[in-house]
Amino acid sequence: MIDVTVKSATKEATSVLEQMASMDHEQVLFCNDQATGLKAIIAVHNTVLGPSLGGTRMWEYRDDSEALTDALRLSRGMTYKSSLAGLNLGGGKAVIIGNSRTQKNEALMRKFGRFVDSLAGKYITAEDVGITTRDMEYVSMETDHVAGLPEYLGGSGDPSPVTAYGVYMGMKACAKEQFGSDSLSGKRVLVQGVGHVGEALVGMLVKEGAKVMISDIFQDKIQAIVDKHGVEVIDVENVYETEMDIYSPCALGATVNDETLSKLKCAIICGAANNQLADEAKHGRAVMDKGIIYAPDYLVNAGGIINCFWEINGYHKEAAMHQTEGIYDTTLDIFKKSAAENIPAYLAANKLAEARVEAIGNVQLTY
Ligand code: NAD
Repeated sequence: MIDVTVKSATKEATSVLEQMASMDHEQVLFCNDQATGLKAIIAVHNTVLGPSLGGTRMWEYRDDSEALTDALRLSRGMTYKSSLAGLNLGGGKAVIIGNSRTQKNEALMRKFGRFVDSLAGKYITAEDVGITTRDMEYVSMETDHVAGLPEYLGGSGDPSPVTAYGVYMGMKACAKEQFGSDSLSGKRVLVQGVGHVGEALVGMLVKEGAKVMISDIFQDKIQAIVDKHGVEVIDVENVYETEMDIYSPCALGATVNDETLSKLKCAIICGAANNQLADEAKHGRAVMDKGIIYAPDYLVNAGGIINCFWEINGYHKEAAMHQTEGIYDTTLDIFKKSAAENIPAYLAANKLAEARVEAIGNVQLTY
């Protein structure tokens, strides 16, 4: 049975319903299946703009409370991401509790697909940490409410190149704001993490003539990119001491924190990683006070969700790329709002995202 007592941010125990209310969630579905060992939570944060869409994460959470908190937090983040990207999608997310290397199989994923189907389209799932396109194929055997499928199944394939394009557009907007020109030619850009998104981003930056540096924990990934693009390699432990114009976190979250901010020498932070600010309020303000331009992560990494949106609405690659290009203008709008209200960029982004949900929620059709 699910433990309905969870720890809130203030460390005080609150019920699931109280925690949902504190973040304004619409619905949470707890899923349990003895036969397959499936234990999952699907959180629907907000469906004002459209069906909730967000990936499924499979992770060995310490306990049910940690899994619930992750599902609630991530689904809320998806509402903000889709709203700011101008998509008619709400925010949702699912977590499967377990080890994705040892506990995942066809039966478990198909059972999970049945639970997704029971929400009748209110939640559309896709890949996240620990989940592959193959797993989504299993889910799609039980429900139509899936995105991120491979091309041979009518999907749009890996969204990472589209995500990288959005980061690139956001980075150009940052350059415009900070340097007066959106050209990245000659700018020293350090891409931390050259996985699916980072590698594609490096290609775009090199093409524009940026002086690209890369860092990754895996030598094989580094070598392949050096062979292709001849970029400079920075040791993982030297990233924050390196002189650079632009720091592009494309690996993990929370890399902008007290320790790194005391060392970072850059004019811009713009990358694909989710939740880059370890403490949004504290480090969002600290970055601003240091004169660094910070591109809100969920704004510039929205290319992937934009691609999913087009996949479920009849895939049109050009339309997805065109909408992703719009991240350039939205980024500049956020900097304008940030300057006008003297608030950090992350807060300006949050306000714009919330305003759209509120405005559309108030739309009443009259005939
Ligand atoms: P990925 O797993 O393909 O790549 C991550 C890379 O970071 C790997 O090469 C890994 O070796 C490297 N890495 C891990 N720890 C590191 C460290 N300490 N220092 C340097 N490198 C390190 O993931 P991805 O799909 O490229 O996504 C990158 C980030 O962007 C993630 O945070 C992801 O949540 C976010 N994101 C991705 C998408 C997408 O479309 N793929 C969309 C939105 C957000």
